[in-house]
Amino acid sequence: MNGEKGLVFDIKRDCSEDGPGIRTTVFLKGCPLSCVWCQNPEGRAVKPETDIHGTHIGTWYTVDELMYRLLQDKPIFTTSGGGVTLSGGEATLQMGFASNLLQALKREGIHTAIETSGFFDYGRFKNEMLPWLDLIYYDIKLMDEAASQQYCGHSSKRMLDNFSRLLKDARIPVIPRIPLIPGITATEDNLRAIAAFLDQQGIKSCALMPYNPLWSDKLKQLGLPVLYEHKGFMTPAEQKTCIGYFTKSN
Ligand code: SF4
Repeated sequence: MNGEKGLVFDIKRDCSEDGPGIRTTVFLKGCPLSCVWCQNPEGRAVKPETDIHGTHIGTWYTVDELMYRLLQDKPIFTTSGGGVTLSGGEATLQMGFASNLLQALKREGIHTAIETSGFFDYGRFKNEMLPWLDLIYYDIKLMDEAASQQYCGHSSKRMLDNFSRLLKDARIPVIPRIPLIPGITATEDNLRAIAAFLDQQGIKSCALMPYNPLWSDKLKQLGLPVLYEHKGFMTPAEQKTCIGYFTKSN
């Protein structure tokens, strides 16, 4: 992964939830974390793979090849105020390629966003990606370092430190997103600790992402063990309880 080619496992067009306007989201393959609830387990391995049905996952693209695909949607970006969002996996794992892609998008005047776990080399991110980004969605999962190690495979320290540093350096919106995973992240202790952390940083709003159970079949198709199971979506009452932990009076 030297920046010449990037490994992509999905390209989704007409997305309306990954930033402003109508967007195309590019899912880069490979992630250094191993969250037990990962919604995109097919994006975790840093190499192409094949699922149990023989479906190939992961295609190498040059920046020019990917731009050819993405530019087909430029009229939609222009009329809707949309653009391109990099997701994953963890897009920063392919830093060189992602940087080259962002620069090509900005040369075309296209709005750029990223969804990240924040598990990256901060200096490289600041120099190679931040200058060509317009918007950052930053996941905050677990405050407790040991819990993060247990459920995501790495301590939360680097991700939280990077978030604080980014707030000081970024001149663009950095929007925290908290995945609500029943019994793991969606606990009173964790959500109150996240709320206090964001408050310390001067952040007044964040996005809560309610649990979606439709991912576990993907693990089975990849032949991977299911380490976490929670059947069903969160109820409106459960979601309301979680929101309450972010309200100072509760
Ligand atoms: S950071 Fe995201 S892509 Fe990586 S393992 Fe966790 S949920 Fe999956």
